[in-house]
Amino acid sequence: MPKIYYKSEEEIELIRHSSQLLAKTLGEIAQVIGPGVKTIELDTLARTYIRDNGGEPAFLNYSGFPYSLCISLNDQVVHGFPSTYEIKEGDIVSIDCGVILNKFVGDSAYTFAIGEINPDTRKLLDVTKECLNLGVEKAVAGMRIGDVGYAVQEHAEKNGFGVVKELVGHGVGFKLHEKPEVPNYGKRGSGAKLEEGMVIAIEPMINAGKAGVKFWKDGWTVSTVDGKPSAHYEHTVAVRKGKADVLSTFQYVEEVLEQKR
Ligand code: MG
Ligand code: MG
Repeated sequence: MPKIYYKSEEEIELIRHSSQLLAKTLGEIAQVIGPGVKTIELDTLARTYIRDNGGEPAFLNYSGFPYSLCISLNDQVVHGFPSTYEIKEGDIVSIDCGVILNKFVGDSAYTFAIGEINPDTRKLLDVTKECLNLGVEKAVAGMRIGDVGYAVQEHAEKNGFGVVKELVGHGVGFKLHEKPEVPNYGKRGSGAKLEEGMVIAIEPMINAGKAGVKFWKDGWTVSTVDGKPSAHYEHTVAVRKGKADVLSTFQYVEEVLEQKR
């Protein structure tokens, strides 16, 4: 059983730097994403921006993944391939990004609404982001992994949405995926104890309909079984006493989206 890697304060600061470059990358994407843009163009933009700022895309060549971003459209849950698909009004586009900077890794994802979207889908996005925030609130020393999952699951299911079980959050920092697993479901007071020095990626994947997913023959793309939309938001978070320390941020994305409104 692999062990949990605890981080020093210096190491947490380095993961913060990686996560901030990642956050700015998502901000760059927010500037250009819209109808008529091909998803492969966003991948190129992210790779260029990350490298121009001294980093390296963490996903590129990870277990053979061929792109810098995972771009998952509408009923795709996660791990979608950037392509020549042209984004259109009404789409939702989940962008998951990883950045390595000074050998430390950050991981964060955001689901973008393109123009006017269906009100039910708007609610899915809002609730999924709320699920992330509720999960983050539990990332405090003395709580357990199950407390994070419970908070996410309870809020999603209360709103009638399905929680993806097959894919989970994870420890992060020295590598993209470390122990412990951080499921988006669970029982309060169960699982590994959260302690200072742990850095985890919390990433609710929430479906508008059924919780079930299917795995594509491309070896990567995951989509909903019922073809209904799915949303995904993710932060890299350091566990602290009293209050979680969110190392990534949606600030850059949301400033741009506010200006574009
Ligand atoms: Mg991610
Ligand atoms: Mg992740």
